[in-house]
Amino acid sequence: MRGQLDGVVAVVTGASGGLGEHFARLLAREGAAVALTARRADRIAAIAEDLARGGTRAIAVPLDVADAHAIGPAFDRIQEALGPIGVLVNNAGVGGEGLALDLSVEAFDNTFAVNVRGTYFAAVEAARRMIAAGVSGRIVNIASIASHTVLPGLSAYCGSKAAAAMLTKSLAREWARKGIAVNALCPGYIETDINAEWFRTEGGQKQIRGFPRRRLMEPTDLDAALLMLAGPAAGSITGSVITIDDGQSLPGGG
Ligand code: NAP
Repeated sequence: MRGQLDGVVAVVTGASGGLGEHFARLLAREGAAVALTARRADRIAAIAEDLARGGTRAIAVPLDVADAHAIGPAFDRIQEALGPIGVLVNNAGVGGEGLALDLSVEAFDNTFAVNVRGTYFAAVEAARRMIAAGVSGRIVNIASIASHTVLPGLSAYCGSKAAAAMLTKSLAREWARKGIAVNALCPGYIETDINAEWFRTEGGQKQIRGFPRRRLMEPTDLDAALLMLAGPAAGSITGSVITIDDGQSLPGGG
């Protein structure tokens, strides 16, 4: 069976669990060769082995995106193993929790180092290689409804995701004639390690009851949009910041 990403090499950052693992498996199902990156080397290795057993060309390359200088060499390793990178899903992210009055400088810096600087330099290193290889590249930045909606108690996270949305547009403009589409997805709340603890609390349950549809989303709710932005359809979509949130950020939600 042919998938819409047959012959494409896709890189997913933060692929050791949660949405990143889901995206890696989704891209593999559509025929892509997949490079999984994250800090937890054992987890990405196990997922890559599982994908390989299913017939996907998959490798695991440990990478801390907060170490911007490590991104280029990691992408070189990926290209040596799988060929030119065609898709980057910039998914690695941290919650950056903490009320502003309590947030340490270190926690703030880490949020921006991963969610903003890591996203930016992973996009740059991917684009550099796409341009050199003459590939029509696709970069999908995983932002959040926090890009445009205040999530109470998450000021650093909101700031970082707003930055991720704007750098999506800026880079899309810069690379518009280089054949690279740069877009962002803004998901609503989906239960993963980033928020599971919160949704077990009474406050978290109350928040869910406040959403227009009184529920969290599922990772599969993002599949159609992710595949659209990673695939041929994005030939004429660039600089778009697309919210997929089950209505959670509509007035009266959240
Ligand atoms: P998660 O389960 O906590 O996954 C986060 C991923 O990011 C992990 O694979 C983690 O891998 C990786 N990561 C964290 N710091 C990293 C670093 N310095 N270098 C490389 N990888 C790093 O959370 P998730 O919900 O799947 O989040 C994935 C993305 O979706 C994030 O950008 C998040 O902001 C965004 N998002 C999530 C939701 C939601 O409701 N879940 C909603 C909107 C947006 P290692 O720890 O192995 O490095």
